Amino acid sequence: MRISHARLAPLAAAMVTLAAAVGVAPLVAGPAAAAQGCQIDYRPNEWPGGFTATVRVAPGDTPLSAWTVIWTYPGDQRITGAWNAVVSQSGTTVTARNAAWNGSVPAGGATEFGVQGTVGPAAPAPTGFTLNGVPCNGAPPAPTTAPPSSPVPTSPSPTTTPSPTPTLPPPTGCGSAVLCDGFESQTGPTPAGEWSVVRPDCAGAGTAAVDTGTAHSGTRAVRIDGAGGYCNHVFVRANRDLGTLGAVRYGRFWVRHTTALPADHVTLLAMTDAADGNRDLRMGGQNGALQWNRASDDATLPEQSPAGVALSVPLPTGRWSCLEFLVDGGTGQLRTWLDGVAITGLTADGVPTHDLDGQWYNRTWRPQLTDLKLGWESYGGAADTLWFDDVALGTTRIGC
Ligand code: CA
Repeated sequence: MRISHARLAPLAAAMVTLAAAVGVAPLVAGPAAAAQGCQIDYRPNEWPGGFTATVRVAPGDTPLSAWTVIWTYPGDQRITGAWNAVVSQSGTTVTARNAAWNGSVPAGGATEFGVQGTVGPAAPAPTGFTLNGVPCNGAPPAPTTAPPSSPVPTSPSPTTTPSPTPTLPPPTGCGSAVLCDGFESQTGPTPAGEWSVVRPDCAGAGTAAVDTGTAHSGTRAVRIDGAGGYCNHVFVRANRDLGTLGAVRYGRFWVRHTTALPADHVTLLAMTDAADGNRDLRMGGQNGALQWNRASDDATLPEQSPAGVALSVPLPTGRWSCLEFLVDGGTGQLRTWLDGVAITGLTADGVPTHDLDGQWYNRTWRPQLTDLKLGWESYGGAADTLWFDDVALGTTRIGC
């Protein structure tokens, strides 16, 4: 049974906007004359219980095509939001990666990003600033600035696109992805900050939570308890405005689930399509195999004939799987990989093929996606428990 949505998903919220914080802005970073000439200036605005900080990244005489800045908070500062960078925190270590639009910094140039957070009584200045693994500001190498022996198992080398290591936070290999989140900065029981829990169509018994017991990387993932029966929809939606990403978007997320995909139609990924009346482009399952579904007309990829379903694959249960997709809004094409393997049945190549993408191209399809939602929609009796982790969205393929 397939039932299309009756209501529209709200558009993704704008990026984090900060309340203006008054006060002085002391320059915390140390003097110049740093190794490799890089300078990281951290300028906080603090008030009881909270802070914002502007971070200026100056590479010195080495131009950058991508950057990762890492520092340590000696106190109890906790990042809750960021702008112009993708920022995560693991313990006292903060990792900030460039956004899609500010990875390139010329020699002698600089770029800025910002963070906001909460803090208790102890708020000593951050230390150990590194830029792409190189200590900056002339600071002596702190424990977190020596990658070979670092207790913080990140690999800040965007130019080498390392593969993620399942037990290490935060996700690696994101390159210049505009969104790259392993949920390690989540501090409460419910997804917040960069994410919102949404029920675009109707609410029931489905729940979304931050799980510290099951994770693909680090210690946190999003857990979705998807209930059976119609209208138990629940998603976590990225708050970032993803409508600016452009026509070609690659996505990558890790998912683990409990119950085999049912015969009924279910959804685990939904993205609002501004070119389709803000109806969702959905990935999920039907007849036991993965499928794409267009909410506006209920077209499926592959077609749900036995031959079509046989071109797709089930989603393994009881282990983490890497799902990747390419949506090309310019040419109206779609690609999908499971654990790095392209899935024929989840491929729309622009030429209608019976059993495969014949139904998909029953009309011109040029999607303009504006958000990203991970969760669960059941349109029949199927229930499932799912975990999502290491989510990334960018303009080039990210990899697993
Ligand atoms: Ca994680």
